[in-house]
Amino acid sequence: MSLHVTVHGAGLAGLSAAYHLLRLSPSLTVSLVDPSPVGCGGASAVAAGLVHPFSPKGKMSHRGEECLAALQPLLAASEAARKREGLPECTVTRVVYRLALEEKHVAQVSSMAAAHPAHASPLIERADLPFPTEALCGVQLLTARVIDVPLYLLGLYSHLRFAHPGRVELAEPAGTFPPPPPPEGEVAVYAAGADLFDHERFSDLPASLVRGRSLLVPAAGPDPPPGLICGKYVLPTSSPGTLLVGSTHEYSASPPPPSELADHLHAACSPLSPFPPPASPTITEGTRVNPARTSLGRLPILGPIGAREFVFTGLGGRGVLGHALN
Ligand SMILES: Cc1cc2nc3c(=O)[nH]c(=O)nc-3n(C[C@H](O)[C@H](O)[C@H](O)COP(=O)(O)OP(=O)(O)OC[C@H]3O[C@@H](n4cnc5c(N)ncnc54)[C@H](O)[C@@H]3O)c2cc1C
Repeated sequence: MSLHVTVHGAGLAGLSAAYHLLRLSPSLTVSLVDPSPVGCGGASAVAAGLVHPFSPKGKMSHRGEECLAALQPLLAASEAARKREGLPECTVTRVVYRLALEEKHVAQVSSMAAAHPAHASPLIERADLPFPTEALCGVQLLTARVIDVPLYLLGLYSHLRFAHPGRVELAEPAGTFPPPPPPEGEVAVYAAGADLFDHERFSDLPASLVRGRSLLVPAAGPDPPPGLICGKYVLPTSSPGTLLVGSTHEYSASPPPPSELADHLHAACSPLSPFPPPASPTITEGTRVNPARTSLGRLPILGPIGAREFVFTGLGGRGVLGHALN
């Protein structure tokens, strides 16, 4: 029996859902519905693209290694498709350090190194770190990388069209959202990110919305610079000579003006490694769906919400790590 699935949202969650559905069922067709072109909508369009298996406190994430392994075939499929289409590489760097800016972080990086030698190098003292920093010490995250998420998604969508000709299409939404329940023979997957929460039907999902902002600044040092994290991040981007800097700090009530935000992020992030204060800051912002904390950490929300209707959201701040696990 043939089945048609409409996936509402073509970000990390929606494209991963389409990838696995098409791969698992040879008779199934998929419509991806999104008001934005692939790579231009939602949190996926502004994600910093950092991928590593650790929690912010340096513990191994629940199923972190499995997620990393599950991501590899999707990265490879995207890569092959981008090569075919003449699009650039989406991995910006594989050199990423987790630093200890304060005493309390030293224990975190030390235990990362001791407990997970496949993923974290032995502890490196400041004097031996290969870049200027105010950090006390750090570890290199051996299986981490930084990717350009929009490029990755473009490649993944291209792969889907190439691997499953005539079985996948991308369309703009028509009619109201959420749509009426799908008829027999059809299934709906709701993967519209934070926009889901504008609608009563999804507002009870166990998640909150977290706004995040990053700043694009000129890089001062070598090109490409390493990715540096310690709650805050200083990451290279696919535009040579630029860094994306951000922190987990959230401005929930009233966002400060751009210059104030730029000063704040410069003060918070430049101890990782110095960079010049931005004269005219370029700010990107987005809202991610942060699932409620469980005893296993923050887990994605995936499951049925009605007959022939499913939701896939709540990828949190680790969307690239978590989206590929089926
Ligand atoms: C500033 C920032 C930095 C981040 N950095 C990282 C990082 O370094 N590493 C990491 O792993 N994660 C990071 N994240 C988190 C990551 O971006 C998210 O977890 C992930 O993008 C969520 O993917 P999603 O597909 O669930 O939602 P989204 O990416 O928000 O996608 C939702 C899609 O649905 C579409 N849509 C909206 N309304 C409708 C509708 N009515 N019908 C159909 N489609 C609709 C949107 O256009 C969009 O394309 C960051 C997030 C932010 C905000």
